[in-house]
Amino acid sequence: SKLLVLSTFSGGGVLVYTDSSPLRRILHADATLDADGQPIKKKKVVVLGSGWSGYSFLNYLNNPNYDVQVVSPRNFFLFTPLLPSVTNGTVEARSIVEPIRGLIRKKGFEYTEAECVKIDASNKKIHCRSKDGSSLKGTTEFDMDYDILVIAVGAKPNTFNTPGVEEHAYFLKEAEDALNIRHSVIDCFERASLPNLTEEERKKILHFVVVGGGPTGVEFSAELHDFLVDDVAKIYPKVQEFTRITLLEAGDHILNMFDKRITAFAEEKFQRDGIDLKTGSMVVGVTADEISTKERETGKIVSEPYGMVVWSTGIGSRPVIRDFMQQIGQGQRRVLATDEWLRVEGCDSVYALGDTATINQRRVMEDIAAIFKKADTGDTGTLNKKDFNGVVKDICQRYPQVELYLKKNKLKNIAHLLKSANGEDTQVNIEKFKQALSEVDSQMKNLPATAQVASQQGKYLAKCFNRMEKCEKKPEGPLRFRGEGRHRFQPFRYRHFGSFAPLGGEQTAAELPGDWVSIGHSSQWLWYSVYASKLVSWRTRTLVISDWARRFVFGRDSSSI
Ligand code: FAD
Repeated sequence: SKLLVLSTFSGGGVLVYTDSSPLRRILHADATLDADGQPIKKKKVVVLGSGWSGYSFLNYLNNPNYDVQVVSPRNFFLFTPLLPSVTNGTVEARSIVEPIRGLIRKKGFEYTEAECVKIDASNKKIHCRSKDGSSLKGTTEFDMDYDILVIAVGAKPNTFNTPGVEEHAYFLKEAEDALNIRHSVIDCFERASLPNLTEEERKKILHFVVVGGGPTGVEFSAELHDFLVDDVAKIYPKVQEFTRITLLEAGDHILNMFDKRITAFAEEKFQRDGIDLKTGSMVVGVTADEISTKERETGKIVSEPYGMVVWSTGIGSRPVIRDFMQQIGQGQRRVLATDEWLRVEGCDSVYALGDTATINQRRVMEDIAAIFKKADTGDTGTLNKKDFNGVVKDICQRYPQVELYLKKNKLKNIAHLLKSANGEDTQVNIEKFKQALSEVDSQMKNLPATAQVASQQGKYLAKCFNRMEKCEKKPEGPLRFRGEGRHRFQPFRYRHFGSFAPLGGEQTAAELPGDWVSIGHSSQWLWYSVYASKLVSWRTRTLVISDWARRFVFGRDSSSI
């Protein structure tokens, strides 16, 4: 091996440079060494997006073998749970954003402010465009190579192609959206206060319509109602009587993903507050002046004048992802599919996290069939109880969702499955068991599109990347069904810590693990403390807490700057 002796400037000491010496590692700072002391070329990891999943991935990634390049049109992380509070000035937009450059510098990564407009998976390239209207004046287009691509671009609001929505409605997804809504709400009050308007005109201008009874639509309606009660009454006393909030929901209930007790409480509270809640109303079109809905019960189309519409009916895939799905044979799907290790199906070296993708549940049954095939079924098509328990354990380990489902139902289903599948005392009929399991499968839901899921996925993937070399040598995942050996890592497991639904008037509904439901003022304080603690830095935490304090003391700021 090569030996090199260097004398140091400080005199006296010598440093010895051999193929495997620490000095060699220092001199090859850009390329760490493999087990034989040879420099290894760093893999280029391109991360698309700086939201919940992308930021969490970058925050936890600590592997010097990767050369990390982040591409996002947004040079900050946005704390979306407090976005509805920005719409009426409870919290300032700047208080809930964290510049990404700080993290990039700390970690030694690179960042480019641009959006990816095309993914070319066969050539491992992405095509990017610098942000429109940036200080660069005009846009610049460029290509970027990758060895590994991490897609964390989130999703876009879903309009279900309803005519007029893109043109006339406001969305609540980005910081700019919240600011636009804030300006527009104030603008409506200023317009309604102009002289020479008829009563009808004032009523129209001050009719706020919220479409979508999910958590965001409900929280926005509640925030708007608080603003009207706490502040508008003092600031615009002459027009206050003309204000109306209508919440439209196509389903039977609002907050239908929450416990029934929360749904019922929220509906009653909104009625008491005078929010006009219309369930079973599907919006079929929006014009500059009117919003039209189809009533499910009667089939009648009803049109109403409005001053402002906020659209919050869920999310859909971004165009760049739709195009990518076409390329990799996922064109028929609604959402990009990954396996439980967050690898995009049908594509090499590409991972997808957060709202962009969903773990493909359809494979569950195929894999369960494979587990049975591997188990010794004998000629009778039955398993004894011990083998059966082993199979169930295998399924639960592999599919955390199955386990969650079984746990949520207090394992009643296992008992039910056993009962329905029992051929004899000690034997389990496999076909019957599979049938029963497919019932469980059909009831299993995709993971929700939430910040909780996105940030846990980012953390999970970063931890996998951190242990990549170690686990390549010593895999720690379950046995492979297709192919030999074990998977490198355990599959992604989601831990649900509970959900909140702020309902206004300092009341919040909280659904916590273990079917624990709490509604009221105490949950509001829990909400304050959880969100204050979840903010990503002390800077944002301090800003948000001082915004809350300012609001308590002085009320909300109603200027439209
Ligand atoms: P995002 O956080 O949306 O990040 C996407 C990133 O990708 C952004 O940085 C974006 O600029 C970037 N990007 C977009 N297009 C491209 C492109 N072409 N190329 C490169 N980069 C791109 N969840 C909860 O758990 N609790 C809550 O209380 C809650 N409240 C919410 C309130 C509101 C108003 C909203 C809108 C959402 C809320 N959510 C909540 C949901 C949560 O915000 C999302 O589930 C979460 O943001 C998803 O994270 P993500 O990383 O997939 O996407």
